[in-house]
Amino acid sequence: MLVLFQPDVRADGPEVKGLLAHLEQYPGIAAQVHSVQGSLRSLTEVYLIGPTDTVSREGIESLPGVERVVRISEKYRLIGRHRAQVESLGFAYNGVRFEQDSFHVFAGLCAVDNRENVAKTMKALNAAGLETTRMGAYKPRTSPYDFQGHGAECLPYVFELAGENRVKVVAMEVVHESQLSEIRRALEAAGRPTGVMVQIGTRNAQNFELLKQIGQQKEFPVLFKRGMGITLEESLNACEYVASEGNRNIVFCLRGVKSHLGDPHRNLVDFAHVPVVKRLTRMPVCVDPSHSVGRREKGSDGLSDLQHAAAQGVIAGANMVLVDFHPEPACAWCDGPQAMPLEELPWFLEDLRVVREAYERRRTIASTR
Ligand code: PEP
Ligand code: MN
Repeated sequence: MLVLFQPDVRADGPEVKGLLAHLEQYPGIAAQVHSVQGSLRSLTEVYLIGPTDTVSREGIESLPGVERVVRISEKYRLIGRHRAQVESLGFAYNGVRFEQDSFHVFAGLCAVDNRENVAKTMKALNAAGLETTRMGAYKPRTSPYDFQGHGAECLPYVFELAGENRVKVVAMEVVHESQLSEIRRALEAAGRPTGVMVQIGTRNAQNFELLKQIGQQKEFPVLFKRGMGITLEESLNACEYVASEGNRNIVFCLRGVKSHLGDPHRNLVDFAHVPVVKRLTRMPVCVDPSHSVGRREKGSDGLSDLQHAAAQGVIAGANMVLVDFHPEPACAWCDGPQAMPLEELPWFLEDLRVVREAYERRRTIASTR
C-alpha cells in the first residue's frame, strides 16, 4: 500500500508523524518513508509493508496532508509507476540531472587498457562537449583467461584525467561490493575530481546479494543493466532489490537479450522496451547499442547497425546512451569489434541530436492530441 502526501509535505513533517501514529493500531505493518525530488516539486511517499488487507484506506485518506492511498499489486513497488504517481523518479548527481526527460551520452572505453588511451578518450569527450563517460575497470569476462580489467590500479589516472577534462560522471561496473570502497578511496585520494555511476552488469542482474549491497549505499547512483536471459518483469523485480535497500537513484539500461534470433548481432536488440520501462516505472532509461549489436560494420546507407540501433532507442525516448569508443578499436583489449573509433564521436553525437530532436517533436505533436 502506498500513501501519497500532498506536494511539499515534508518527510519529517507533522502529517507524516500523524500517519505513523495512526498506523500503530495495525500490528505487523512497517512504514518506509521516502522523499522524492521531482523536477517541479518534492513529494513524500510512505510505503506500507505487511498485511495491509486489514488497513482501512478511507481511514488514511481522511488524515491531514494525505492526497491519495493506492493499493499496489506489482512486486516492484518502489521503482514502479503506480496510479497517481505522475512524476518521474529523477535525481541529480555531481551537477548532472537524470530523469525521464533528460538526455546524456556516456561514450568511452569498454575496458581501460592504458593511461594514454584514457587520456585520448577524455580529451575527445571534452572537445565534443560531453560530461559523461564509461570506463570499465572491473570486467566480468566469459573466459577466465581474458583480460579482467586493471581494477583499482587504473582508478587514480581515470579519475584524474576525468577531472582535467571536466567529465562529471564515469559509469563503471562493479562485480563485487568490495570494489565500492576501492572506488570511494581512489576518488577521495584524487580529491573528488569526478563522480562514479556504479554499473550492475547483465551477468549480475540477479546477483541479489550484490544488489543489496549496492542498494545500501547512497553515495553512488546505479546503472542497472537488464538480465540478458530473463524477462523484463524479472529484471524489474531484480532492480527493485537496489531500491528496497534504500538507493533509488537508478537508471535502467536495455542492452539486448541473448538469442540466436538476433544473429548476426551479438544480442537481440530490445529498444522497443524503452517506452515500456518508462511507463511501468519512474526511472530514466538507458540504451547500450554497443553490447546489443556487438559490431560496428556500416551498411549501404553509410550508417552502422550500431548507429541505427542507438537511433531506435533515442527516437523511442531513451534518456541515456552507453556506448563503446576506442582510440584504436583494433587494439582494444575487450570488445574491440563493437568499439567505434574516437574520430567518429562528433558524427555519432550529431546523428543522435537529429534523432533526439525528432523524438521531442513527436512528443510535442502527441501532447496536442
Ligand atoms: C559493459 O557495459 O561493459 C558490459 C559488460 O555490459 P553487459 O553487462 O551489458 O554485458
Ligand atoms: Mn564490453
